[in-house]
Amino acid sequence: MSGLAQDTAALLGRLGVATSAFTGGQRSVTSPISGEVVAHVHDATADDAARAIDAAHDAFLAWRSVPAPRRGELVRLLGEELRVAKADLGMLVTLEAGKTISEGLGEVQEMIDICDYAVGLSRQLFGLTLATERPDHRMMETWQPLGVVGVISAFNFPVAVWSWNAALALVCGDSVVWKPSEKTPLTALAVHALFERAAARFADAPASLCALLIGDRIAGEALVAAPKVRIVSATGSTAMGRAVGPILAARFARSLLELGGNNAAIVCPSADLDLTLRGVAFAAMGTAGQRCTTLRRLFVHDSVYDTLVPRLKAAYASVRIGDPRAADTLVGPLIDPASLAEMERALSDARADGGVVTGGERVAGPGEGIYVRPALVEMSHQGEAVRRETFAPILYVMRYTDLADAIHRNNDVPQGLSSSIFTNDVREAERFCCATGSDCGIANVNIGPSGAEIGGAFGGEKETGGGREAGSDSWKAYMRRTTNTVNYGSTLPLAQGVVFEI
Ligand code: NAD
Repeated sequence: MSGLAQDTAALLGRLGVATSAFTGGQRSVTSPISGEVVAHVHDATADDAARAIDAAHDAFLAWRSVPAPRRGELVRLLGEELRVAKADLGMLVTLEAGKTISEGLGEVQEMIDICDYAVGLSRQLFGLTLATERPDHRMMETWQPLGVVGVISAFNFPVAVWSWNAALALVCGDSVVWKPSEKTPLTALAVHALFERAAARFADAPASLCALLIGDRIAGEALVAAPKVRIVSATGSTAMGRAVGPILAARFARSLLELGGNNAAIVCPSADLDLTLRGVAFAAMGTAGQRCTTLRRLFVHDSVYDTLVPRLKAAYASVRIGDPRAADTLVGPLIDPASLAEMERALSDARADGGVVTGGERVAGPGEGIYVRPALVEMSHQGEAVRRETFAPILYVMRYTDLADAIHRNNDVPQGLSSSIFTNDVREAERFCCATGSDCGIANVNIGPSGAEIGGAFGGEKETGGGREAGSDSWKAYMRRTTNTVNYGSTLPLAQGVVFEI
């Protein structure tokens, strides 16, 4: 067993995962750090999936009657388990997804944050009281548990995405079946074990409240097709959303789609360039360009282009790339060889379209890990390569002179996830955030497009899928809304003045 495999096994053991769950299975798990196989997991069969969904449905039938603040107590216990396990789980995220230690820990912190949020929410699942046109009547909305929630997640946020959905779904009275990315099953096994620990400390948690289906798209398809799953929250590529969305629509299930992004930032003449440089560097190079919110397109005003872009190029040339376990690494590996092939294809297409590329070459790293220098590509226009999402660290940089044109180009792509403007001019900032400004789900001022907090609703428009998760009123997606009209009088006036006397 390699050193990396031993470290992985030790972490999994400390996190409470049985050795049999990550040895002897048919699916090998590779660490992007060195390309080594670190575990073998067992795929769920179609029968396993059917059993898990049936059991989760039984769990829902019991869980929906537990009072919501009491349900919040289970999520509070989960948050406690995550606090205790933060260092180990964060390191496992680093080993399995290749994130830097700081980002691995940050992802677990995000899980803790959403648990805290959901605990508070468990006492605030409130509806409205509405004016009624009939005398001696009261009309109100109440929110009821929905059913089994399916969660399909992507490799790049291997644990946080589950928690965004599960913490809210649990306080809303739902059960959860999770199909994690086939590239990151180990972190899912660890999170599942932590949930089971929390559930064991909670007297009235029904069995199978949170289930796990390890496997590839076939396991995901089973979840999407199952009539007992009332909503599927699916995070991944737009291609995945295109496959999943129509199946859910055909059986009138809900979908919450969190798909690809192609995020832009606009740098205005008045921007604080020191702040902009840091904001752009983190958003474009952080997580090795493998965030849905990664900055991929930068529009720089002509008057500051020749000041900012050379400084950016210097940052690209000096950024520390390598083993994500090293404390000073800022850019870790790409997830796999297919990712490198996509990056090379995009750079080749951009060059053919007149782009001037800085960086993008392979850099030495441990073993067979795939390490690249982030690429900065100066373009005169948004060609096909710029308009598609390549899930790798490529930043396309373009000049602009007119803010309206820059906003137009910000919006002129199929995706609509995140966007930013760097400016000290309040008119420009407000123009960017108003109805005729950015058409994305996220529009920031003086911070980059990545690194969202859990308090705001997260998601995007157009090919990003339209879903919203985490904060604000996202919880409503996991509940069934009932409008109740109560007549406390002794007559029966009909709405709209309709008369029906018998
Ligand atoms: P992917 O689409 O390859 O896989 C995502 C998940 O979907 C995996 O669990 C996979 O097994 C499953 N899947 C794929 N096809 C399926 C099908 N037909 N039916 C059911 N399940 C299916 O994505 P990836 O490479 O893991 O992640 C990168 C992509 O995810 C990027 O496009 C990125 O922008 C996107 N992403 C979006 C968000 C967001 O919140 N908008 C967050 C993270 C990642």
